[in-house]
Amino acid sequence: MADIWKPIRSSGKVPEYRMFIDGKWVCASGSGTFEIRDPSDGSPVARVPLALKKDADAAVNAAWKARPLIGGMDTVERVELLDRISRLVREHSSDLVGIISREAGKPVHYAEGEVKATAERLHLAAEEARKFSSDFIPGDLVPGTSNRMAIVTRKPVGVVLAISPFNYPLFISIAKVAPALAAGNSVVLKAASDDPVCMLMFARLAELAGIPRGAFNVITGSGSEIGDFLVAHPKVSMVSFTGSSPVGKRIATVAGMKNLHLELGGKGPAIVFADADLKLAVKECLAGALKFSGQRCDALSRILVEQGVADRFVRLLVREAKTWRVGPTTDPRTMIGPLINQGALEKVDSLVSDAREKGARVLLGGKRLRGLYYAPTVLDRVTTDMKIAWEETFGPVVTIIRVRNEKDAIGVANQSKYGLDASVFTQDIEKAIRTARALEDGTVTINGHPAHGLGNFPFGGNKESGLGREGIEYSIDEMTRLDTIVFSMKK
Ligand code: NAP
Repeated sequence: MADIWKPIRSSGKVPEYRMFIDGKWVCASGSGTFEIRDPSDGSPVARVPLALKKDADAAVNAAWKARPLIGGMDTVERVELLDRISRLVREHSSDLVGIISREAGKPVHYAEGEVKATAERLHLAAEEARKFSSDFIPGDLVPGTSNRMAIVTRKPVGVVLAISPFNYPLFISIAKVAPALAAGNSVVLKAASDDPVCMLMFARLAELAGIPRGAFNVITGSGSEIGDFLVAHPKVSMVSFTGSSPVGKRIATVAGMKNLHLELGGKGPAIVFADADLKLAVKECLAGALKFSGQRCDALSRILVEQGVADRFVRLLVREAKTWRVGPTTDPRTMIGPLINQGALEKVDSLVSDAREKGARVLLGGKRLRGLYYAPTVLDRVTTDMKIAWEETFGPVVTIIRVRNEKDAIGVANQSKYGLDASVFTQDIEKAIRTARALEDGTVTINGHPAHGLGNFPFGGNKESGLGREGIEYSIDEMTRLDTIVFSMKK
């Protein structure tokens, strides 16, 4: 097969990509570009266009114009379109895995999981579209409207602006794009600037699958330069954003009267009760804290252990944490790769230093390795006056806070401004349910670490962790509007 990527990038050692606007591959109007580097060794991966407001406007206008093209398709045609894209993602998975691993610094087996999940999510969004149905409401249930009846259907909202973060640059984007298209919306996606290339490649697959012109647009550029313009754009009907809480709050202020879906930061607590299966709790807490170097909104970044079992738990945990292998992202055995950029590395290091200075014990790691690598770290005896007890870490750090009892554990867990994910480890079913009900998080996992897979269960946060829920059954609800048609009949 001819090189399918040829139309979207220049040849050469460091390829220069174009953006996908109105069905065409274009450079930024100001001809500016920016560089994408591999976090594992700093080598250049690509250059991508630096979109200006003019380009953002062109993308929104293209999506606006394309509303009847995607919204007017029969559902079965949209289902087939999404399935064709899903098949192309599978066919070209090794190219997608390669680019995600390089631009996000993601160990290759995590990147493989992300691409596989993306193909499945597309297929499930197609299935979701098949479940579209209407309600019939008779009017004679209340006095005065007995000669009336209504049908209530769902309509696409129009143009969905999707903005995604760096940590799952393909999957999180598609968790927005797939249901938006399935529901008949057109989409403008603003990719994360650390690792946008995979979404440009995805756009090429959507083009090959026959997406109507303008129905899907991908732009690359700085969120702080073009974000406000996009979010406030009058032709955007909905903003679906995943990223940090400060940016989410800004979007909520700038958006005005638009549907908003905000998936924001987290500081997931895991409560380990004295009666827990400690071996299981250790394994799960480590996976929850360290997977993808802790760069996950649902990371378990506060382990609240009842003091009666804390010494034993910590001993087991340190032994097991030493098996988390640091290495090159290309090695399938690597479990810990680099952090995304220098800012992330500085943040993790400063949180660990603050904890150490205030008396936390560093039982493992606690230091920078080469480049953007940070050693898997275990901090014991963290107290609530330390910044790491409250701020998002986004690094490979296991933070242990010893608690007196159930009440103390729930109190510390709920004191956080975040409310995304939590875990509870106990063999007492009543205590598990009681604690889960008392926690203020969107999801509580009993005897496991948070893992949201394809979005089978509704996912989203409370407090500063966001607004709304994503998921296979839930995203389409948020991306459509109820539309009521009332029939008034002669008596
Ligand atoms: P971020 O800095 O908030 O950036 C997210 C996206 O927002 C990027 O595309 C960014 O563009 C864009 N952006 C920046 N300023 C903007 C503005 N004023 N208006 C509109 N868009 C703007 O987050 P990140 O560092 O990429 O990702 C990590 C954060 O995401 C963490 O807080 C994590 O908890 C959260 N997260 C949450 C979930 C969830 O489901 N709840 C999932 C994953 C990650 P640039 O890249 O160009 O700056």
